[in-house]
Amino acid sequence: MKLALIGFGQAGGKIVDEFLAYDSAIDNSFVEAAIAVNSATTDLQGLDYIPQENRILIGQTRVKGHGVGADNELGAEVTEADIDEIQGAIDRVPVHEIDAFLIVAGMGGGTGSGGAPVLARHLKRIYTEPVYGLGILPGTDEGGIYTLNAARSFKTLVDEVDNLLVFDNDAWRSAGESVGSGYDRINHEIVERFGLLFAAGEVGQNDHVAESVVDSSEIINTLESGVSTIGYASETVESANDGLLSSFRSDTEFDEGTATNRMTSLVRKATLGRLTLPCDAASADRGLVVATGSPEHLNRKGVERGRQWLEDETGSMEIRGGDYPLPGRDDVGAIVLLSGVTAVPRIDQLQQVAIEAQETTESVRANAQEDFATLVDTSGELDALF
Ligand code: GDP
Repeated sequence: MKLALIGFGQAGGKIVDEFLAYDSAIDNSFVEAAIAVNSATTDLQGLDYIPQENRILIGQTRVKGHGVGADNELGAEVTEADIDEIQGAIDRVPVHEIDAFLIVAGMGGGTGSGGAPVLARHLKRIYTEPVYGLGILPGTDEGGIYTLNAARSFKTLVDEVDNLLVFDNDAWRSAGESVGSGYDRINHEIVERFGLLFAAGEVGQNDHVAESVVDSSEIINTLESGVSTIGYASETVESANDGLLSSFRSDTEFDEGTATNRMTSLVRKATLGRLTLPCDAASADRGLVVATGSPEHLNRKGVERGRQWLEDETGSMEIRGGDYPLPGRDDVGAIVLLSGVTAVPRIDQLQQVAIEAQETTESVRANAQEDFATLVDTSGELDALF
C-alpha cells in the first residue's frame, strides 16, 4: 500500500529515514512521500534520506531550533501553532496516489509525543484517507517523565488515528547494548516488520502468478480501528535450483505437505513469539496473515491453515490471509498483524507507573512552592523594592 510517511520528533525522523532506505532496496516500493517534522535543528540535520525540502522545523519562535526537551505539552503547542508549515509539505504529496498517512513518533519524548496527535487530528479533518500512527513506547528504564509522556500521548493519539500500530522499545532492548547501537538494531527490526507488511500490499497482479496476493484493502480493513501489533517468523529453505542434491531429489519439485506444515508453524511462531507490542493474541478483534518468500515455497493451503489456526486462537471471524511472493529469496516467513488487541499488560503497567509519576510530580511541585514561599518569607519585616 502506498503511504505518506511523516516522522515526528527524533525517533520518528530516524525511523522514517530507515523506512526510506528499506523501500529503495525492494521492488514493491510503498513510500510515496516522506516528511520529517522536528523542533530541533540538529535532529533534522542528522537524517540521511528524507529530502531537505521535506524536513520541517517547527516552534522556531518559541524554542529557537533547540527542541522542546521532554515537554510534550509544549510539543503539542508548537505543532498547533505551526501546523501550516507542516501542511505546506503535505501539499506537495500527491494524496490521490496514497492509500494512507502514517505518522511515526517516539511517545516518551516531547516533540513527537505531543505533536503526533495534533497532526493526526489535523489530517483527519482535511483528508478522507486513513491516518495511522506508529507509536514507539519508551524503555521502562528511561524514567517516570518518559513513561508519563508516553501514557498521555497514547491516550490522546489512539483517539485521533484510525489505528495505532505500536512498537515497545522495552520488549526489544538487549542487555549490554549501547543506546545508539541499540536503536540502530531496533529501528531495523521495526522497519523489517512494518515494511514487509506495507510492501506486501504493493505486489501488482502482473508481478507474479501468486495464488492469493495480499491487497492493500485487506490491510486497510484489518486496520479499521484500535491498537495493533505485529509478529514475524521466518526460516531458511533450500532453493529448488540450488545444489547438487536438487538434481537427484524428487521432493525439491514442490512438497505441498512440507510447505503447508512449515507455514502453519511459522504463523504460530509469529503469533506466540515476540510481538512489536507484547499482548495476549487471543484478545485481537481482527487479523491478517501474510506468507512471504520465494513463490515455489508458498502454497494456498499453508496460508489457509495458518489463517484457520489464528481464527481458532482469537475466536475472530475477521482473519484475512494472503501471499507476498519474493522471487529468489532463500527464506520463507509469516507476518501476523493483530488488530484491535485489548489484553495488553504493558499498557496497563505504563498507565499505572504514569499515574504514580504524575502524583509524585504534583506533590514535589506543591512542596517546592511551599519551600520557596518559606525561603522568601520575612514575616512582613522586609519590604520589596516595588
Ligand atoms: P522528541 O524528539 O522530543 O520527539 O523525542 P525523541 O524522539 O528523541 O525520544 C522519544 C522516545 O523515543 C525516547 O524516550 C525513546 O524511547 C525513543 N527513541 C529515541 N530515539 C529512538 C530511535 O532511534 N529508535 C527507537 N526505536 N526509539 C527511539
